[in-house]
Amino acid sequence: MTRFAGRVAVVTGAGQGIGAATAHRLAEEGATVAVIDLTAERAQATVDALTAKGHAARAYGCDVADHDAVRQTFAQVVTDLGALHILVNNAGITRDNLFFKMPKGDWDAVIAVNLTSAYNCSQAAQTHMVKQKYGKIVSLSSRSALGNRGQANYAAAKAGIQGLTATLAIELGPYNINVNAVAPGYIATPMTVSTAERVGATAGDHQAQAADRTPLRRVGQPEEIASVVAFLASEDASYVSGQTLYVNGGAR
Ligand code: NAD
Repeated sequence: MTRFAGRVAVVTGAGQGIGAATAHRLAEEGATVAVIDLTAERAQATVDALTAKGHAARAYGCDVADHDAVRQTFAQVVTDLGALHILVNNAGITRDNLFFKMPKGDWDAVIAVNLTSAYNCSQAAQTHMVKQKYGKIVSLSSRSALGNRGQANYAAAKAGIQGLTATLAIELGPYNINVNAVAPGYIATPMTVSTAERVGATAGDHQAQAADRTPLRRVGQPEEIASVVAFLASEDASYVSGQTLYVNGGAR
């Protein structure tokens, strides 16, 4: 499939996990991908894997929580790659703790990296998308948006993504820009491996517990989120906007 031939896509937090899988999926379908991560070195690992397969990609180091750095990086992407058609707001972190002892710094960091980053990146991207009257913005929410013990900061940020998505769809729709979100359940990535370590479980045991709670009786893989992001970024979803799609193995 070449659904993204001639398209330029920015994927944030694409050094590993869901972001890296998404960068691969978009590139495999013809996109030139700007791979953003905290440092250019982290992004370069994904770019090396993509170019080894003959795909077009370029690495950028940028803290997506930093408004000015995002503006500069996105301008550089357009200078380097010629346009910006697709934005995937994927970068995210967790700083889990019960609410009564959650440090202010952990609240601020999670809101900044998971929610304010989407404001920063979407605002920088829409400048270019509005001019060309074409754009796709897909942001990573989470099943945790519905509430999850120990994740007040993360749940608030991921619920915020859903409100931002619904509102940007209204404001940017007249410029032919589709804005949607994906809300994964438990996906096997370095993020969930860290969560397992923090609670003193092995990654395998932690995943087995999550699988037991999931109707499909297994956890998800990054490629199973990447394929849904790709759908929402493609013309197959041309009349879908303002939606949050839960991708969680059937859990309610
Ligand atoms: P991950 O931790 O494996 O990867 C996240 C990437 O984001 C890393 O490469 C990291 O360096 C980068 N990053 C972190 N802070 C950044 C910043 N300030 N600027 C730029 N890059 C930054 O995470 P993942 O599991 O692949 O998750 C990707 C997205 O999906 C996140 O938004 C996460 O909240 C969401 N999500 C994940 C799961 C899951 O189970 N893994 C479930 C629901 C939602």
